[in-house]
Amino acid sequence: MKVTEHIDRAAETLFSFEVIPPVKGRSIEELYRNIDPLMEFNPPFIDVTTSREEYVYIDRDGLLDKKRTRMRPGTLGICAAIKHKYDVDTIPHVLCGGFTREETEYLLVDCQYLGIDNVMALRGDAMKGEKYFTPTEGGHTYASQLVRQIGDLNKGVYLHEVVETDQCPDFCIGVAGYPEKHMEAPSLKTDLKWLKHKVDLGADYVVTQMFFDNQKYFDFVRQAREIGIEVPIIPGVKPIAVKKHLQLLPQVFRTDLPEELIEAVLACRDNREVRQVGIEWAIEQSRELKEAGVPVLHFYSMGKSDNIRAIAEAVF
Ligand code: FAD
Repeated sequence: MKVTEHIDRAAETLFSFEVIPPVKGRSIEELYRNIDPLMEFNPPFIDVTTSREEYVYIDRDGLLDKKRTRMRPGTLGICAAIKHKYDVDTIPHVLCGGFTREETEYLLVDCQYLGIDNVMALRGDAMKGEKYFTPTEGGHTYASQLVRQIGDLNKGVYLHEVVETDQCPDFCIGVAGYPEKHMEAPSLKTDLKWLKHKVDLGADYVVTQMFFDNQKYFDFVRQAREIGIEVPIIPGVKPIAVKKHLQLLPQVFRTDLPEELIEAVLACRDNREVRQVGIEWAIEQSRELKEAGVPVLHFYSMGKSDNIRAIAEAVF
């Protein structure tokens, strides 16, 4: 079922979360062990991220051979496995980076065969070790182009228009939004303009980047509505889990942390205490968002679920 249908049918705020595929060579069982404790909160959908390729260097008799590889492949396979095991909708993250338009088309065809009704259309980050995003040759530069490609497919328009269609897919399309603006955007206003462009091209809902101050989300939603973005805007929530997050999260995601949260984390003696502070902060955030009537609370699990479970127990 589509995310928008889940939202339309729900009387209350829904619970959902995102998982990361295991590093290749590792078992999927660990992923299941993290999903199992969250299923009692009835997530209508689970997102599965896609990671960019990265360079590895292989020592061949003293010479380093540079190879491109994807350390966490298997997004679609994991979507299929989770859907099958838990009977829940799964949402693959589809990236511009690392894929040609043709490869994207094949991926979407696979999604249709697997009965996947939703896809999250994203540009993708820069490759590890590179400062800026470089489009893949034959691929898209912006998520909006990906949204257009998916929208075309929904109308039966394939890339090279050499096929006759008798059953069009009907993907519900999610896109990313940034309450504190995307790191490359010169201003929030400009970033919102491009978000509106994605929605105008067919995006059905938005999931936000993590934020730690709900006011940032409320302001973002207000400004989005003011420029005519009417689709659901799902807040993304991430509990702080280790002290290092104080530097890492602003650096990687460009999110500000409230002083009160920083002080509470700094006062912790170890990461066990930090984890508890993160849980309590996320509970407060989630309760306020739920009271404000957000359609879904979407949690970034980052591979571990004990803290997400503690939050869900307190909020749902
Ligand atoms: P876009 O919407 O293309 O925007 C990128 C930048 O370009 C923005 O600054 C925007 O303002 C600007 N822009 C957009 N269109 C134009 C235009 N036509 N002309 C000029 N400027 C323009 N990354 C992954 O690698 N894998 C994942 O699974 C993943 N999941 C994510 C899930 C969520 C909910 C979020 C919020 C992010 C996720 N990301 C993921 C990170 C995301 O890929 C990065 O933030 C990326 O840098 C931007 O992606 P986007 O889809 O927002 O890009």
